[in-house]
Amino acid sequence: MTTTETRFREEVRSWLADALPADWGRGRAPSASLAGRIAEGKAWQRAVHRAGFGGLGLPVEFGGRPASATERLLFAEECAAARAPEPADIFGQLILAPTLMQLGTAEQKARFLPPVIAGDMMWCETFSEPDNGSDMANIQCRADVEGDELVVTGRKRWNSLAQFATWTMLLCRTGAPDSRGRGITFALVDLSSPGIRIEPMPMLTGDARENEVFFDRVRVPLENVLGEVDDGWRVAMAAMTTQRAIGTAELVPRLAVVVEDLVALAGRTGVGGRPAIEDPLVRDGIARCAVDVAALRRNGQQAMAASALGRPPGPEVSIAKLHWSESEQRMHRLAVEMLGLRGLLVRDDETAVDDGYWAHYWLWTHALTIHSGTSEIQRNIIAERVLGLPRNR
Ligand SMILES: Cc1cc2nc3c(=O)[nH]c(=O)nc-3n(C[C@H](O)[C@H](O)[C@H](O)COP(=O)(O)OP(=O)(O)OC[C@H]3O[C@@H](n4cnc5c(N)ncnc54)[C@H](O)[C@@H]3O)c2cc1C
Repeated sequence: MTTTETRFREEVRSWLADALPADWGRGRAPSASLAGRIAEGKAWQRAVHRAGFGGLGLPVEFGGRPASATERLLFAEECAAARAPEPADIFGQLILAPTLMQLGTAEQKARFLPPVIAGDMMWCETFSEPDNGSDMANIQCRADVEGDELVVTGRKRWNSLAQFATWTMLLCRTGAPDSRGRGITFALVDLSSPGIRIEPMPMLTGDARENEVFFDRVRVPLENVLGEVDDGWRVAMAAMTTQRAIGTAELVPRLAVVVEDLVALAGRTGVGGRPAIEDPLVRDGIARCAVDVAALRRNGQQAMAASALGRPPGPEVSIAKLHWSESEQRMHRLAVEMLGLRGLLVRDDETAVDDGYWAHYWLWTHALTIHSGTSEIQRNIIAERVLGLPRNR
């Protein structure tokens, strides 16, 4: 680490010590409601921006701050170690902003980057549809150019946090119905536009985090198209690659903290009066989790070093996505198994350990191996585009 990076780490650490109460985030209880967690995440984003850590690595003219890839990773590691809240606008700050920097026009950057960096917008992603998930080129949601607008009609599904969002990144079909990736457009849509209806979908955890979003002749100015009309596949691939790379930068540091908590949990719980930490299977399981985190961290550092040399992330981000999502699932399953029957109790049950955190998040981790491309799809990408094996069909 360079002297500048060491100084940056100290600056972040000392700000976090002031910004968060000393016992912040201990005990792992999930905050009351999804709406409560989103409100907390929004307030945190604004605090990060006010402290001068918003938009790390993005241009100063848009409210960002120059930062190396290592400094961005250091910021994420320090926030994870302090158990800081997760930012609410993951889609805007971590997916849209880098995609705009790569493919947006000067006007689009000037219009959207400042409010995204300041935490004044909340974005979602409306790509998937009832009959289209893994096969993203099969978009059916129709959009026709009328004058200087797109007119959009269709139905989207599984759209995370859409009920809290103000804008969405939309994929729609502008070409012939069978034009696959050649006839898709990527548009930025104001969710307060007439003709949009959002219906939350309750999930296994009890939270309704995902939604269905209906578009009925929604008018979108052509200036909101990212890339060109019919050129959205290229933009979507850039956004998806960024999305899969996020885990490396943002989630892996948080997994290191989960391993610490697993060790603590194994020390204070057990079956039949014997602490779980004395069980060889538990010890073996925790060691495996620690090895996963070490490997993920090392690969993340390599990816950061490559990006510092100007190499954009490629299909190898699928390796990271597959590894972190399956590792996080394994970690939470280990905790639930360690707790025996009490591991099945969810929040609001007074005998639940850590207010049901482990059961709640173990259920949630099942979503990790589906969203942003399922594990099977990541394995196909690794086989075909990283290893050069023959196509599966
Ligand atoms: C919690 C959650 C959040 C999500 N958030 C969003 C969001 O914000 N925005 C959004 O647009 N979408 C979102 N999604 C949708 C997500 O991207 C899709 O669910 C995912 O791509 C899978 O698509 P599908 O559900 O249609 O399953 P399908 O594509 O029908 O797949 C069904 C099964 O078949 C397997 N399969 C499919 N094709 C192949 C193949 N070629 N080779 C091998 N196996 C294959 C899959 O791996 C899966 O096991 C979210 C999903 C979840 C669960």
